[in-house]
Amino acid sequence: MAEGMNCEDVRDLLFMFLNNELDEELEEVIDHLARCPECRLALREHMKLSGLLYRTMPYVARTCYSAWN
Ligand SMILES: [Zn+2]
Repeated sequence: MAEGMNCEDVRDLLFMFLNNELDEELEEVIDHLARCPECRLALREHMKLSGLLYRTMPYVARTCYSAWN
């Protein structure tokens, strides 16, 4: 995991991230999101699309989300 994921990889995994379905990719997705404002924006769009609210987000997503905002 020298280079981590690119934006395309991460976008494909956002729904899984929000559903707490990531396992080995989780660290890399979090790592990328922490560094990439565009993917965080995409994450917010995914939240809107799936009707996910901050308080109903899975714990992992919620923790990261609050750290980034
Ligand atoms: Zn990105």
